[in-house]
Amino acid sequence: MSARENLSAASRQLMTELQSTGLRLVDPHAGAASRRGGAGPSDHKAVTVDGVTIMVPVHTSTAWNSPFVASQPDINGMSALLRGAIPIANISFPKPPRFYALQTFDGVPYSHIATLHSKDVLATTVLQTCIRYESRRKTCKFCAIGQSLAAGRTIARKTPEQLAEVARAAVLLDGVKHMVLTTGTPPTSDRGAQLLCDSAFAIKAAVHLPIQAQCEPPDDDRWFERMKASGIDTLGMHLEVVTPEVRERVMPGKASVPLSRYMEAFKAAVAVFGRGQVSTYILAGLGDTADAIVAMARELIDLGVYPFVVPFVPISGTPLEDHPAPTPEFMRSVLAPIGAMLGAAAMRSADIKAGCGKCGACSSLSSYEE
Ligand code: SF4
Repeated sequence: MSARENLSAASRQLMTELQSTGLRLVDPHAGAASRRGGAGPSDHKAVTVDGVTIMVPVHTSTAWNSPFVASQPDINGMSALLRGAIPIANISFPKPPRFYALQTFDGVPYSHIATLHSKDVLATTVLQTCIRYESRRKTCKFCAIGQSLAAGRTIARKTPEQLAEVARAAVLLDGVKHMVLTTGTPPTSDRGAQLLCDSAFAIKAAVHLPIQAQCEPPDDDRWFERMKASGIDTLGMHLEVVTPEVRERVMPGKASVPLSRYMEAFKAAVAVFGRGQVSTYILAGLGDTADAIVAMARELIDLGVYPFVVPFVPISGTPLEDHPAPTPEFMRSVLAPIGAMLGAAAMRSADIKAGCGKCGACSSLSSYEE
């Protein structure tokens, strides 16, 4: 059994609450650096609670008003977690990885090429630009893919050679266990599939590391075979939100790819990668009802797709920075039934070969798998 499956109901509840309300830090520099901007959930920091590492918002306006405070870590790296003034648990922060101290021959810091997520996942945005981000009118309103680039914390395009070099170092120096390759969407009909294939091929030639690729559904389902043949072990195609009106409102550009295309692509991808090895992100708290999210999750599980439901994090600098994060009650109302469905379908986070569903740090979903 994994540490997550062993969690007490109280720890599981605490994690769900922390991920909704965020955390205030007495020492913002404790442990590995927090993550700001970039693709996907961000403005959060890796925190270990009861042996399980999760990502907790620390830079959002919700977090600044959180009832939870982490005290200054002691000499063993342990911090008291306070709710108000009352200590309720001991937490710690994963240490900065050793590969962050290195740079390429041409002077690019490894941390600008890929970053450590949670405690043992290497993650990168291969292409840090996106057609959906070019127009603020069409952009996905929750996304901060351009912010880390503008702040000089990353480079626009990571070459396969750079990724292979960093992946090898992260495995050898820090024991990284799997890798996430995500990408902004380029203006090509493959939606970035070729870039992901080239990257995975180079990484697999350098080091044994299970890889998840993430992109929009490519124009042609034959890409899934090519991706698998390049060394990609699992695939993420992210719905983000599930109701047509919410899709139009929150991600007007990406909503041009209809839900029906996602469903077709999921089916074709599961035939290639296998049941439970294809996943999707669903950001709870952006307007979809709990019933809509649970109904979509049921449909996805029936197709063999792992619905990775995470609480929406309102990232500073995005159009949704003031949108409230979902309440812990709302999160429990979606995670509990979906966790039970995943358990009944024997589709577990622990059985995923690589990627966000396996990492699970951005959601407490896997602790609800029964
Ligand atoms: S769930 Fe995905 S985005 Fe979140 S920390 Fe893990 S690898 Fe990173």
